[in-house]
Amino acid sequence: MADQPTVELPAERVPVIARCDLLVVGGGAAGLSAAIAARRQGADVILVERYGYLGGLASGGLIVLLLTMDDGAGRQVVAGLCQELVERLEARDACFYPPSAEWGDPNDELVERYRRWGLVWGSAPHKVRYSVAYDPEEFKLVANNWVAEAGVRLLYHRWASDLVRDGDRVTHVVFTSKAGRQAIACDAVVDTTGDGDLFALADEPFELEQVHPWLWFRMSGVDENEAGGSGSFRTIRPGQALLPWGAAERIGRRIDATDPDDLTFAEVECRRMVMEEVDRLRSQVRGFENAYLTDVALTPDVTESRRLTGRYVLQRDDLDKPFDDVVAVTGHWTKYDCTYQIPYRSLLPQQTENLLAAGRCISVDHRAHHATKEIPACFATGEAAGVAAALSMSRSVALADLDVGELQRALVKAGAWLPERGGSAAPGDRR
Ligand SMILES: Cc1cc2nc3c(=O)[nH]c(=O)nc-3n(C[C@H](O)[C@H](O)[C@H](O)COP(=O)(O)OP(=O)(O)OC[C@H]3O[C@@H](n4cnc5c(N)ncnc54)[C@H](O)[C@@H]3O)c2cc1C
Repeated sequence: MADQPTVELPAERVPVIARCDLLVVGGGAAGLSAAIAARRQGADVILVERYGYLGGLASGGLIVLLLTMDDGAGRQVVAGLCQELVERLEARDACFYPPSAEWGDPNDELVERYRRWGLVWGSAPHKVRYSVAYDPEEFKLVANNWVAEAGVRLLYHRWASDLVRDGDRVTHVVFTSKAGRQAIACDAVVDTTGDGDLFALADEPFELEQVHPWLWFRMSGVDENEAGGSGSFRTIRPGQALLPWGAAERIGRRIDATDPDDLTFAEVECRRMVMEEVDRLRSQVRGFENAYLTDVALTPDVTESRRLTGRYVLQRDDLDKPFDDVVAVTGHWTKYDCTYQIPYRSLLPQQTENLLAAGRCISVDHRAHHATKEIPACFATGEAAGVAAALSMSRSVALADLDVGELQRALVKAGAWLPERGGSAAPGDRR
């Protein structure tokens, strides 16, 4: 505010603690995927996360449902690192999903079975989806092991707060932590902060959405046979329920997730309301008589904040539209038999030469975001950004000048699913 008092900070020399080819900032689904993808292409990668675990909303936020990896007609459209995550979780007996023979099946009994796990949404007539329920603590462990195995340098507990630029290039990102301010030098950056902190610092244009905060939580001691109509979901732990509780009807205010005052309001109000809801469930809802609260999302679950206005803004009407520069594909968790192709240009900012966005803050409109923000889509755009950044360095070409055909071939070779270039958006055989 213009009339706010200000203080002047002394000029400061900040130590440069590391340098790397690619700096990935934000360790959610997209950041995890970007870092591993780039490392596997030979880039030297540092992944920095402000908290002490990987996964972001997909673990600490208790959003523990991969919705969805198919097109709603029984065909898988998100593969690559997201598929590998499922396999790594499965190897630890830490996830649950319908077998492939059932994907696309409209059988009411089957649909109801998976709906109880939170794996079927939208309006009828329903079909079984390739969606996955998993355990968040297992996700965190799998992710730590995965980045270590890949050779990604992981730095926790550092909060990106500044950029150093040389013209239109980012040369360093500055992090604040208990060790003070420290810089990391890099050749390229992927912004996977969810809130687009990096592209905002780089003065790239963006849209800022205000949303109702949610706070998911889990309870144990639930009688699953009785709790069917409670709005809770089964989890992979017997007697444990996931409560996808939101404040939309209860909190009469949307919040700006980049405003700490709004976040403070949301933290206090949502936690108070979660406790009210726990009391209501225990006293009024069948199956919850002996249930108890086990964990609550670590921060408010916000679907949306900043979205990049990049070289292309993917629109609601682009559903089922093919793009020559498609680098990721996602189904729609509330719609059947349709996909969004996500073009490379939706990851590219307008000005900054060595920056890409991935995950929920990519360049899409509010309606397309409904689909592209989902965890599998964030894995897919993260993977695309990681491979693109590594390729641009190995070919010594700017990110914007990358041969997208080569990028697509590299993604498919790495395991991602993409449609034929320039072909229909409907899934076909893998290339
Ligand atoms: C209420 C709700 C329900 C949802 N339901 C589903 C669902 O059922 N299924 C589904 O697939 N998806 C669902 N989603 C969407 C999905 O959870 C998220 O969009 C997705 O997990 C986002 O991943 P991300 O990596 O882009 O961002 P995030 O998960 O937000 O990760 C960003 C990471 O960056 C870190 N970070 C942020 N700023 C900085 C900084 N300045 N410096 C360093 N680190 C930083 C954060 O700590 C975080 O770890 C839901 C979302 C919400 C809010």
